[in-house]
Amino acid sequence: MTAQTVTGPVAATELGMTLPHEHVIFGYPGYAGDVTLGGFDHAAALAACTETARALLSRGIRTVVDATPNECGRNPAFLREVSEATGLQILCATGFYYEGEGATTYFKFRASLGDAESEIYEMMKTEVTQGIAGTGIRAGVIKLASSRDAITPYEQMFFRAGARVQRETGVPIITHTQEGQQGPQQAELLTSLGADPERVMIGHMDGNTDPAYHRATLRYGVSIAFDRLGLQGLVGTPTDAERLEVLTTLLAEGHAGRLLLSHDSIWHWLGRPLPMPEVILPAVKDWHPLHLSADILPELHRRGITAEQIEQMTVGNPARLFG
Ligand SMILES: [Zn+2]
Repeated sequence: MTAQTVTGPVAATELGMTLPHEHVIFGYPGYAGDVTLGGFDHAAALAACTETARALLSRGIRTVVDATPNECGRNPAFLREVSEATGLQILCATGFYYEGEGATTYFKFRASLGDAESEIYEMMKTEVTQGIAGTGIRAGVIKLASSRDAITPYEQMFFRAGARVQRETGVPIITHTQEGQQGPQQAELLTSLGADPERVMIGHMDGNTDPAYHRATLRYGVSIAFDRLGLQGLVGTPTDAERLEVLTTLLAEGHAGRLLLSHDSIWHWLGRPLPMPEVILPAVKDWHPLHLSADILPELHRRGITAEQIEQMTVGNPARLFG
């Protein structure tokens, strides 16, 4: 079993400690229209991202899944540069963002004229099996996303297309849930479409603090990710303390084999640099991809979580999902 990274296939056993949901570069759709400060600064981005990649490697992290949707500045050639410069293994995604924050106009317009779902299927299938935009770099995961209160008809086109591509190729699926909602619904929809739960990771599950929500999702056999560690009180997220409470509950119930950990961090923002108002700083001070190894894992250890459980969540589960 192999994972498809931006530099080619890697054996599941070589993935090592893996962060399953981060963003090397990311821009909210619209960033490309604001070139006031000169647009993409390749040299600055490469310097920042290789520094982050090296810091991760020095902490024992060997693989990162870049969850950036196609219309949010996904850049496989740049990911390959970061990977080749540092040795960090990176998987790139294919998919579009949820309706509220994605660039929806393109496929909505096409859906009004014809069969956009088939086009989405072709797009994902091509990117998974042949490569992305002539780079020869194949997507290693499909990224799907839903809104807070529903998986909208627009989003369902992507879920159906993504499940079909997975049935045909075995490519793993990772998802975005909004504000801790729709986890069970995503799992239900994907498994009803024939997706393999062993190869599905429902994301941003740490946006909800009621373990009943997690149990209702796990019932479908999928994995779930606590993948916004360090992001506290922003974009509808709870605190790390609340997340760890739920996580330790689920571990005590024996769910280590279905839990993954990550940050949803962004190493370089496309568009202008982010203004960071004083009031926001406490919400993001721990929102960086070293937080897990530096702070969260020691805290889990203090709470009595075993080295085996940690190994399962950070190495074993990613190998099964992405390998
Ligand atoms: Zn993300």
